Amino acid sequence: MDQTTLRYSRQLILDGFGPAGQEKLRRAKVLVIGAGGLGSPALLYLAAAGVGRLGVADCDAVTFSNLNRQIIHDSTDIGRPKTESAAAKIGRLNPEVAVIRHDLRLNIDNVEELIRDYDLVLDATDNFTARYLISDCCYLLGKPVIEGAAVGYDGVLMTIIPGQTPCYRCLYPQPPADGVLPTCSDTGILGMAAGIIGTTQALEAVKLILGTGTTLAGRILTFDALTTGFRQVPWQRRAECPLCGENPSITELVEYKIQCRTKEVL
Ligand SMILES: [Zn+2]
Repeated sequence: MDQTTLRYSRQLILDGFGPAGQEKLRRAKVLVIGAGGLGSPALLYLAAAGVGRLGVADCDAVTFSNLNRQIIHDSTDIGRPKTESAAAKIGRLNPEVAVIRHDLRLNIDNVEELIRDYDLVLDATDNFTARYLISDCCYLLGKPVIEGAAVGYDGVLMTIIPGQTPCYRCLYPQPPADGVLPTCSDTGILGMAAGIIGTTQALEAVKLILGTGTTLAGRILTFDALTTGFRQVPWQRRAECPLCGENPSITELVEYKIQCRTKEVL
């Protein structure tokens, strides 16, 4: 058996997978925005599964305070750009994956160019400015996006497919006000809570690519690490949604500058 077949042998024998499924993964182009607590496990599992082209977008460098959850980076990576550290780790895990580094801070001028060439997007960012840009842009470009968030002991995940599911603004039509949001640096975060959400984002991506199983489309997943409790909450498209509703008021990208309660500290 050749090395590639051996590498994927334990998933090739799964029902609903096989060589055809592996080929779908090899042809897939997936973008992970944020190589942090969510993006780390998502990138590792997508690479291990054999996604052919994997984009990594981040603008930060690795710090010691990242390492309780950002498992794609390690102590030897301190000070390195996260895209570089992640690309190196993916290269060692699975050299068959083409990694595309996007060492940039997401903004209204670069988000469309960033996303345009990918089949689907994992939003693994940690702030609402990026989240609205990514979810609006994916809706306007017709790209599926898997939204993940984790803070404290809690996580949440939603799979958004334009034209099929509610959009992010069906739930949150407008961003929260300045200064009301906590950040990881002032509320903390348990590594495993981020890990479970990031891993589940990768799982959703693989199911979308394979066309197998049932995705979370139309249901929001919440996770409470303290009780190990998972819940799925149905959500609906809203006719008055400013983005996907009957009379949308948002027809092009808008950028919000939303300040958290305290600034990120290292
Ligand atoms: Zn909507």
